[in-house]
Amino acid sequence: MSDHPLISTEDLSVSFPLGKSLFGPQQYIHAVAKITLQIPRGSFFGLVGESGSGKTTFGRALLKAVPISNGHVEYNDDEVDYNLEHLTKAELKDYRKRAQLIFQDPYAALSPRMTVRDIIAEPLELMELTSSREETDEKVREIAAKCRLNLEHLRRFPHAFSGGQRQRISIARALVSTPKFVVADESVAALDVSIQADVLNLLKELQRELGLTYLFISHDLSVVAHVCDQVAVMYLGRLVETAPTRELFAGPKHPYTRALLSAIPSLDPDHVSKAQKLEGEIPSPASPPPGCKFHTRCPFAIDICKTDEPVQEHVTESHTISCHRWKELDYSDAAE
Ligand code: SF4
Repeated sequence: MSDHPLISTEDLSVSFPLGKSLFGPQQYIHAVAKITLQIPRGSFFGLVGESGSGKTTFGRALLKAVPISNGHVEYNDDEVDYNLEHLTKAELKDYRKRAQLIFQDPYAALSPRMTVRDIIAEPLELMELTSSREETDEKVREIAAKCRLNLEHLRRFPHAFSGGQRQRISIARALVSTPKFVVADESVAALDVSIQADVLNLLKELQRELGLTYLFISHDLSVVAHVCDQVAVMYLGRLVETAPTRELFAGPKHPYTRALLSAIPSLDPDHVSKAQKLEGEIPSPASPPPGCKFHTRCPFAIDICKTDEPVQEHVTESHTISCHRWKELDYSDAAE
């Protein structure tokens, strides 16, 4: 297998127009701005940040579910090499099979009027991936078994299932087209903690068995620490830090990453956290502040932060950061 990343983005930006303006220029929401990132094949790649940071839009852009405004996205597996901004109709149809989404809410994602068999079979039928009902049924049974659903489940309707079972149905539906890339957007957020562990273990098992690459979008850093190999941190549409999970959790360099990590509750009763509190709200992407987008909340902001946007720099080959002051900031007073 090639070591070429499955997904590579370069300066990827996604903007949405803000209604029609009668006077003056059209205004835009810059939901994702100039993101350069590689997602290695076979990785469980975490994407974290507060709500409003652009994580979901970034994930949707990688699935071609929202238009790419600027920049490049390359998808490269062993069979195809696609430039997502310039897909032909046939390539887009093929890409839909290779890149899939697992939804957040297992209650809203499944049609209450369809049986589990029909829900899982629908992508095969829409994408015309099978040539007979028998073949469709065989593929549905195969993926249902991998997702720990049994034959009896296939005849029932979603309301008969618990949240964890419904999420397994959603996963089976996402994987029935044998994708290689899966965006899991807050896919365990709506579940109880004990069920979350069950679903995360299933995702891990399926990754090994089917050779999947995940983009795992989450606001829950303890879940990300548990399952992801690498993590990217977003703030107001920008990438602020990326690193292998252990490295990021052991020594975050960006003030925003530190603030996020310090807010994770500790199970150790002797642990006295000097949590670096995040003050205020994330600004609106419709009117982002100039310079470093985090400067309005950063305790280390200096003049240059208010005027110049920091560029992405390498701390190590696999660790990047966007902060003017990362080399000089001293966190030795902070509690670990
Ligand atoms: Fe804080 Fe400045 Fe670094 Fe932004 S660039 S994170 S404001 S120190």
